[in-house]
Amino acid sequence: MAGVVERFRKVLPVSSRTPIVSLEEGSTPLLPAPRLARRIGLPAEILYLKWEGSNPTGSFKDRGMALAVSKALEEGSSGILCASTGNTAASAAAYAARAGLSCTVLLPAGKVALGKLVQALAHGARVVQVRGNFDQALTLARQAAKRWNKTLVNSLNPYRLQGQKTAAYEVTQALGRFPDYQFMPVGNAGNITAYWMGYREIFRSQGKVGGGALPKMMGFQAQGAAPLVLGRPVLKPRTLATAIRIGNPISWKGAVMAVEESGGEIGAVSDREILQAYHHLARSEGIFCEPSSATGVAGLVRCLQKKDRNLSSPGLRIVCVLTGHGLKDPETILKGRFRKILIPPQLRSLEKVLRPCL
Ligand SMILES: *Cc1c(COP(=O)(O)O)cnc(C)c1O
Repeated sequence: MAGVVERFRKVLPVSSRTPIVSLEEGSTPLLPAPRLARRIGLPAEILYLKWEGSNPTGSFKDRGMALAVSKALEEGSSGILCASTGNTAASAAAYAARAGLSCTVLLPAGKVALGKLVQALAHGARVVQVRGNFDQALTLARQAAKRWNKTLVNSLNPYRLQGQKTAAYEVTQALGRFPDYQFMPVGNAGNITAYWMGYREIFRSQGKVGGGALPKMMGFQAQGAAPLVLGRPVLKPRTLATAIRIGNPISWKGAVMAVEESGGEIGAVSDREILQAYHHLARSEGIFCEPSSATGVAGLVRCLQKKDRNLSSPGLRIVCVLTGHGLKDPETILKGRFRKILIPPQLRSLEKVLRPCL
C-alpha cells in the first residue's frame, strides 16, 4: 500500500514534481472494540478505535511528516528542525533520514518518553534537550529555523495538518459513513484541526456519506494541561501524558472551530482516568497505546458518566483515535506494581507459583 501523499495526492498540495518521501504511513486499522465497549457500558457494535500506533514510527505524526518532508525536499531545504514532546521528533528524524536531510530536534529535558528519545537518536537526528517546557522549546525552534534557514516541521508548517487530514478520509472510507462522534486527545490541537478539515472537505465534495451528518468532534486534554478548557495558556503544564503536556496550543483557534462547528466539546480528564483507559485498552482489547493516546477513551468514559449526551443508541458509530504506540513509553507500565516471579526450572516450582490461578 502506498503512503498518504501518493494515495491522497488529489486532495493534497502536491504536483508531479514533488519528490515523495514515504515510509508507507497511513492505512492504519479501524478496529471494532466490542469488549471495551461492553466494559464501559456501550452496545458492543458501536465503538471503533483508529489505531495510529501502527504507523511507521508509531504515531500519527508520520502522516503530516511525510508531506512536510516531501515539500521540504521539493523546495530545496537545507534541513529540518522542530521542537517536540517526542513523537514529532521521532517522526521528523525518520523521514529526514529517508530523504537525506539533516534534522535537529529540541526536546523539553526530562519530559520525553524514553522510546521517542531513542528513536530520534537512532535515526541520526541532532538531539538538543532544552531546560524548559515544550512551549519554550517551540519558541526557540521558531527563532532557530529563521536564523539558520531550516524548515520548521512543527504543526505551524501547514503541510503537517494537510497530511494529517488523510486520517479522516480513511475513517470515513472504512465505516462507509461519517462517525457520529470522534473522541481524541488534544495537545497542540493540530490533529483535531486536521481531522475536522478532512471531514469538512469530504462533506463538501461528497455530501452526507452513507446518509450520516458530520461527526461531533470531542477533544480531551489532561487536567493539569488544559488551556483550551480554562480559556487561557497554562504556564506550567503537568501530566504524565507527556505527548499532550502543552500549555499554549499552536492550533488553538482550529480546535475551538472544530468543536463549535461540529457541536462537539473540549473537556479535561485526570491522569488517573487516562491511566485507567490505557490499562483497559491493553487488557481488554490487546491494544497497547501510550498514555496520551488513551485520553480520548477516558473522555468517552467521562461523557458516559455525565449522561448529558445520548451515546449509547445501537445505530451510533463512535471512533476513538489512539494516537501513538505504548512501546514508546515503557516506564509507565514498569511503574505499576508487578510481582516478580523467579523460579528454578522445575515443574514443582512452577506449580507452586501458578496454583492460585490454575
Ligand atoms: C502529538 C500527539 C498528540 C497530540 O496531538 P496534537 O495535534 O498536538 O493535539 C496526542 N497523542 C500523541 C501520541 C501525540 O504524539
